[in-house]
Amino acid sequence: MVTPLPDGECWCGCGAQTGLGKYFKPGHDRFAEAALVKMRYGGVTGLLIAHGFGPGQENVSEAWGRWRDSSDDNPDAFGEAAAQR
Ligand SMILES: [Zn+2]
Repeated sequence: MVTPLPDGECWCGCGAQTGLGKYFKPGHDRFAEAALVKMRYGGVTGLLIAHGFGPGQENVSEAWGRWRDSSDDNPDAFGEAAAQR
């Protein structure tokens, strides 16, 4: 996937200007994520089910651990997720 470079406007759609090299105003990435999950999946449970996770299916925590441990090209994704916990 090719991600376009930040263009100075918050990608959540609020119209605010972001800092240099930033896609979002602080916290607006979480808003965009939650809104999209709610609109497309009805919530996190629906998101998990749609992607084969949940009871009797794949375990998302275990899958995350495998992905994190094997992925050397996604350190930013891990750091971002961990920093927001
Ligand atoms: Zn925004």
